[in-house]
Amino acid sequence: MDKLQALWEYQEAESELGQLEQSLKNTETRKKLIRQQQLFQNNQQHLKQLEQESVLANNKMVEISVQVDALKKQMEQKDDEITEIKDYEVDDLFLEDIQEIIKECEGIKNAIELNKRKIVEIMHNLEKSETDIKETLVKMSNAKKAFDQLKAAHAKELEAGKGDLEKLKANVAKAAKQVDPALMEQYKKIKQHRPNPVAYFKNKRCQGCNMELPSGMLQAIKDKDKITLCENCGRILYAVDE
Ligand SMILES: [Zn+2]
Repeated sequence: MDKLQALWEYQEAESELGQLEQSLKNTETRKKLIRQQQLFQNNQQHLKQLEQESVLANNKMVEISVQVDALKKQMEQKDDEITEIKDYEVDDLFLEDIQEIIKECEGIKNAIELNKRKIVEIMHNLEKSETDIKETLVKMSNAKKAFDQLKAAHAKELEAGKGDLEKLKANVAKAAKQVDPALMEQYKKIKQHRPNPVAYFKNKRCQGCNMELPSGMLQAIKDKDKITLCENCGRILYAVDE
């Protein structure tokens, strides 16, 4: 067997192995598996966000409660002021003072009302978020169950393909032994940037990139002692009889 024939056979064996590996990676089960994993992660992200929002809402509630307490204290002070002036003679009272107290009391009352409405709104949002958290946990649990089942099914698929895989790996190893080491090195270097580094030269064209090459090249390619590269794609050219 000549050098290029051996390399060609090695490439064939390698390509066959690659196809099987690819097909084992691209089964429907594996695609579903990846989707379930994504679903689980999305829900996990959502849950984290909901939990963070809940913490913020609870902090806000505490903050508002403190404000309400302070306002209630102010209201008590006003109550004391009112109790004090209740015993005054009418003539000793200034209308402006009474109006001022009433205005202040109304201001405090409005502020308390506003804060109460804020608390109701926050509690409403917390309830909604609690429902959302429960639903998200159910979704996560379902995704996890589906993931585990698919994972087991995919493991079986891989197990079933194992025999073929081993056989093809052995073929590659066997074919590699026939290839000249220097040529193999050149092949691997080309493979880093070109799939299938050996290409047929047929109908005056490199079958790797389909570029038409000078007609004089066929003779050079047929010279078994020399390696000719396609001047366009850099693949090793292998002539076949037409
Ligand atoms: Zn080419």
